[in-house]
Amino acid sequence: MTEKKMTDKLFYQDSRLSGFEAEVISCGPMEGEKGRYEIVLDQTAFFPEGGGQYADHGSLGGAEVLDVQERDSQVFHITDRPLEPGMQIKGQLDWEERFMKMQQHTGEHIVSGLVHGRFGYNNVGFHLGSEDCTMDFSGEITREELREIEVEANRAVWKNLEVQVLYPSPEEAGKMEYRSKIEIEGQIRIVVIPGYDVCACCAPHVKRTGEIGMIKLTDVQRYKGGVRVTMLCGIRALKDYEMKQEQTAEISALLCAKTEETALAVRRMKEECSDLKYQITEKDRLLAAYRADLVPDEEEAVCIFTEDIAGEAMRLLMNRVLEKERKLCAVFYGNDADGYRYVIGSRKNDMRMLAKEFNAAFSGRGGGKPEMVQGTAKGSASEMRAWIFEKAGDMQ
Ligand SMILES: [Zn+2]
Repeated sequence: MTEKKMTDKLFYQDSRLSGFEAEVISCGPMEGEKGRYEIVLDQTAFFPEGGGQYADHGSLGGAEVLDVQERDSQVFHITDRPLEPGMQIKGQLDWEERFMKMQQHTGEHIVSGLVHGRFGYNNVGFHLGSEDCTMDFSGEITREELREIEVEANRAVWKNLEVQVLYPSPEEAGKMEYRSKIEIEGQIRIVVIPGYDVCACCAPHVKRTGEIGMIKLTDVQRYKGGVRVTMLCGIRALKDYEMKQEQTAEISALLCAKTEETALAVRRMKEECSDLKYQITEKDRLLAAYRADLVPDEEEAVCIFTEDIAGEAMRLLMNRVLEKERKLCAVFYGNDADGYRYVIGSRKNDMRMLAKEFNAAFSGRGGGKPEMVQGTAKGSASEMRAWIFEKAGDMQ
């Protein structure tokens, strides 16, 4: 058994280190993962997954770093190809991604520090995902309060404060007031944003708060007796702004409304829509009544094919026709090519058996009550009409 050596963690010396040289200590196939290798180096700038944050990506020699995990103080780089132990290699981080994560992470400290200072709530869950960043707090925060926190947090950015890292002795740490997310073994690392936050944390952060760029709190939802706040910092906030601006510009053009009045324009449009729907329903009613009045009084079985009277109005038409003495009334909406919707009613005869036979004859579906059946069917209008009249001939 080889002696395990701790990986030298270069990200603690310099969080801005994007490239480094290292020696390959060991390399082996990853258990259960074909074509994946676990590589240990003497030192690394790759920050492993942990504390709610996903691992850094990048390259080692010619190998791609797909994931990074830490076990027993050793950092394992999961790669797509093996590297020879003893080799000197160059490591390169996906710096844009790492810097973006440091923006989110440092922003989280400021927001959590402000929330803790103002409400006394703890951050009980932090997740830095590939889309956004969420923080769970142990108490309720309103949208209004969140807006105030957001402004305060951005003030901390504008002040361009130095993000300090302290390594206190256990005695010193015992006397310090700081937020701590997890139980820490060994050396405690305290991250200080003067005036805003003091927190035990082992992740890399930006050096000055100005590098965060912007802190945008996009959502707050009730969550497990507290709230879950969604945050976008720096480049993510900018991208979100771009997307929203694009959407707003398009909506604004479509509505011919100023961008700051789009919501009002949509509300008006919705009102117009519901007015129009109401008017259409009223016109359908009228149309159904006029169509019914065209049916001669002496017609005992009525079969109407229409491409204008649909939905609820079909039933209105049928009922209107049945006000006169009839055996039945069938209303069809549609055409031979696409098929028909139907309603068939009678005040004297049970329509359920008729519907069953009709469905069988015209690949239909549907059913209903004795006085009314409805469904869909396929076939030609003339054949359906003939079929209905024939059935009606046997009825009372
Ligand atoms: Zn941190």
